[in-house]
Amino acid sequence: MFHFAKPPRAVHTTWLHCSASDNPKHDDVSVIDAWHKARGWSGVGYHFFIKKDGTVQTGRPIEKIGAHVAGHNTGSIGICLHGLKEDRFTEAQFDSLRTLCGQINAAYGLQMRFRGHCEVAAKACPVFDYRKVLGLDDKGYIIEPVATREPVPLTAIPDTVNHDTANYPELDVGDRGEAVARLQELLNRAGAFMGIDLKVDGIFGGQTAEAVKELKQEYDLYPSPVVVAHVWRTLIAAEAARAA
Ligand SMILES: [Zn+2]
Repeated sequence: MFHFAKPPRAVHTTWLHCSASDNPKHDDVSVIDAWHKARGWSGVGYHFFIKKDGTVQTGRPIEKIGAHVAGHNTGSIGICLHGLKEDRFTEAQFDSLRTLCGQINAAYGLQMRFRGHCEVAAKACPVFDYRKVLGLDDKGYIIEPVATREPVPLTAIPDTVNHDTANYPELDVGDRGEAVARLQELLNRAGAFMGIDLKVDGIFGGQTAEAVKELKQEYDLYPSPVVVAHVWRTLIAAEAARAA
């Protein structure tokens, strides 16, 4: 399976398209590349193409701005599924789309918006019910992000401050599980005075990342979202101090 790597340019939205063809001869990114070159473009305008068998092909290099949605190419990624008729897209394509979009979403702290071309153009593109396939809310965010890592158990975390760093799991955006829920509880208690009030859902998304950064800044730690042993110790000590 393809593994998404974040490009250096800023991206906030991923646009979904279809190739508007069910012809098996068109089921390859090289065909789209030829079509787009015939329009006088430098090459395929989409970053990804998903064949009927679910294969994910790369199109335009991800670090380059695409050409797929007028007025919205900057700050976006373009994905095209081969197909035209709604009932002829395949489950293999949808599985690959969910996996690819899950990777993209995790890479952007679960804050990526997924939108259909039809939302900004008088077209049916991408034809299939992408909101249902990806489980999107009305703004285009994935409602229940598929975590890409193994859940981190709570048993790995001590309740009191100690210096056995082996007991503190490293957490980052995209993690999930009981350890993330414990982190969210700690952030809520240690950061209540700053207005931090997270939903304790065990999913390390964008809001949890913001809370970690704010608290680390407050304690003069480098404000990245990564939680390592000394961050756990700081949070546990801060919680104890606030409770006292
Ligand atoms: Zn389109």
